[in-house]
Amino acid sequence: MRDYLILIGHAWICMDCRLQMLTDPGTMLIGHKVSDEERDCILNLTEESFRTMMDLAAATGLSMDDLRTAIDHPLSRLRHLGVYRRR
Ligand SMILES: [Zn+2]
Repeated sequence: MRDYLILIGHAWICMDCRLQMLTDPGTMLIGHKVSDEERDCILNLTEESFRTMMDLAAATGLSMDDLRTAIDHPLSRLRHLGVYRRR
């Protein structure tokens, strides 16, 4: 499971993290391994990208199958994205 899929999958189901991804993607990406292409896709996401799953698949370069897998994956649902502060 690539970090990219987890990021996208979680952003689809969690409004808080989606908002953070749209407003402050640089901070969100810290600690996640994504390729340059994946990073570009994330930086270019807009609210419209999340209108439907098909819009999101197009915006992220993922197939619908990959996107569905990402959204259904436990890792996408377990925790919020971004920097982890354990204190
Ligand atoms: Zn979240």
